[in-house]
Amino acid sequence: MPQRNQDKWISDFQAYAVEEIDWSKTCSLPFLCTRKSKLRIFQFKLIHRRISTNRYLFKVGISSSEQCSFCENTSESLLHLFWECPKTKVFWNEVIKWLGNFSCLLTKSSSPQLCLGFVDDTTALLVHHALLIARYHIFGLNQCTPPPLARTFHSEFSDLLGIRKTLFT
Ligand SMILES: [Zn+2]
Repeated sequence: MPQRNQDKWISDFQAYAVEEIDWSKTCSLPFLCTRKSKLRIFQFKLIHRRISTNRYLFKVGISSSEQCSFCENTSESLLHLFWECPKTKVFWNEVIKWLGNFSCLLTKSSSPQLCLGFVDDTTALLVHHALLIARYHIFGLNQCTPPPLARTFHSEFSDLLGIRKTLFT
């Protein structure tokens, strides 16, 4: 991964508790935790900062506003969209709480690094798969603007894992 991308993410995360990031494992994680191409491509783009935010689209003259599509209150950076937006925060809180219902999906932390897939350990693949689906949910909704909803994530999660929805309702 280019050094400038690493530096930008480290700068983004500096306001939070310092967690070790292994860049090689971070890059390989999407290829280990899922076989779905769309999830792999999405995560690859995210870590390489190739997701078009409103801030970027405004800068290049494509969007008329750089405000976040969810809260419409703050410039839409990657970190804002996927972590700091109040609407996204509510979603993550619900997702982490919900995953805690399943012993195999319990996570030790709910840091932005972990939730966004920046890791130093790739052993808990099911947890990483679940968090990747949650990130993809945020990304997918950003294209059509309603805020992320835990309820909708639950059904996407079971669909992507091929599990009967009744288990999760
Ligand atoms: Zn926002």
